[in-house]
Amino acid sequence: MSHVRVRFAPSPTGTLHVGGARTALFNWLYARNQQGIFILRIEDTDQERSTVESHAQILRSLRWLGLDWDEGPEMGGAFGPYVQSERRAIYAQYAQRLLDEGLGYHCYCAPDELAQRRAEAMAQGRPPGYDRRCRTLTDEQRRRFEAEGRAPVLRARMPDEGVTKWTDLVHGETEFQNTVLDDWVALKSDGFPTYNFGAVVDDGLMEISHVLRGDDHISNTPRQIVLFKAFGFRAPKFGHLPMILGPDRQRLSKRHGAASAEEFRDAGFLPQALVNYLALLGWSPGDNREVFTTEQLIKAFSLKRLNNTAAVFDLEKAKHINAEHMKLLPTSAKVELAWPILLARGLAHEGDEAARIRLGRVIEIMGNRFSNLGDIPTHLACYFTEDYSVDPQGASVLDEAARERVHMLAAAYQKLPVFTAKIAEGVLRELATNLQVDAGDLIHPARYALSGRTVGPSLFAAMEVLGQKTVVARLRRPKVS
Ligand code: GLU
Repeated sequence: MSHVRVRFAPSPTGTLHVGGARTALFNWLYARNQQGIFILRIEDTDQERSTVESHAQILRSLRWLGLDWDEGPEMGGAFGPYVQSERRAIYAQYAQRLLDEGLGYHCYCAPDELAQRRAEAMAQGRPPGYDRRCRTLTDEQRRRFEAEGRAPVLRARMPDEGVTKWTDLVHGETEFQNTVLDDWVALKSDGFPTYNFGAVVDDGLMEISHVLRGDDHISNTPRQIVLFKAFGFRAPKFGHLPMILGPDRQRLSKRHGAASAEEFRDAGFLPQALVNYLALLGWSPGDNREVFTTEQLIKAFSLKRLNNTAAVFDLEKAKHINAEHMKLLPTSAKVELAWPILLARGLAHEGDEAARIRLGRVIEIMGNRFSNLGDIPTHLACYFTEDYSVDPQGASVLDEAARERVHMLAAAYQKLPVFTAKIAEGVLRELATNLQVDAGDLIHPARYALSGRTVGPSLFAAMEVLGQKTVVARLRRPKVS
């Protein structure tokens, strides 16, 4: 059994965005590569910003991406509970240890007093961190503050000298002078832990072996390491993943368009494609492969090939990888994915077997023309309804002369006793010869008349799926924009 225990510890204060999904993925890939344990822990100690919707959405997004957790909400496990607000008694116990062992102390400074002292320190060119005033309170002073009704916070005491260092899995040797670590708040006055305190207690008790998280946490790590040591926990190995930037090289945010996993899902991305693309943001396989199934990623993933330079999110590349994954799907899988989309668009009804069979045939003839699930309704509607959209850009292929030819084609088709792709093609070519025009002069306008688009699958295969009656009717009354 592997000793690898990793966790994804989102705060339920918003959607699972690209950065969070990438963090979850790297931890998951490492766990699966090492046959270790992947834990989901919900860090909801910010009571004002945490919401149940966000909690539910994070779980939903992880499941959609296929990132299953071995321990965590809805799964249980031997180290639970896995939601921090349910672990308050545990934090209280560790807070007491801080007090008992002189590793922490109560601080009665009010927020406005702290702000004022901070401003003064900055004005005088001194470090703005907490001035440690309450470290040395006498019992008498403490009693006076309590009598004033001040609710204390608990601060963790940081060393006054020396350095705290670790070998980061991404950045290598990393060290901080302890003098820059001010005595941070471990327990807030409402009794909830701060992120740093909750993370240390939980990572320690949950026996986390490796912490892979965003670069933005790097300055928290020395504070956490001091506490891991103080509590006698074995500190995990840390790897700080480089930030993800937008094309303008600013930190990726909503401004850059689709940012949450569910937005990608709604835009028609396949989860395995998004997983593939996210894996390449901060990790490289060591060769120039780009398209990976999830199984291949698990096999190839290694902490040794984490990059330490910021990754730029490239939507075009994500789309390209999605198109490649669409190609990997067998028809049956595409039918499974397309059917609910047709139902949602009212293009088919639950239980309509004929429509489902037709869908299979359409997908078959479409080949690799879908690069995105979102394209499905646009390309498929003409096979299921007369109310399909028409591309106005293509209208010129159906000018007066073309329309006349198409009408002649309709007349020839109407007479046929049997209507197949092969027969339809023969008749069209014969008519082109008789009219002394190129076959294309019939094919292109006919395609537009039948589907409202200038591109699509083989015209004759499409005709066979549509059937003689529909083909004749549409050729007779070509739709125009
Ligand atoms: N709740 C923290 C966050 O969402 C977790 C950071 C960590 O992985 O330690 O940023």
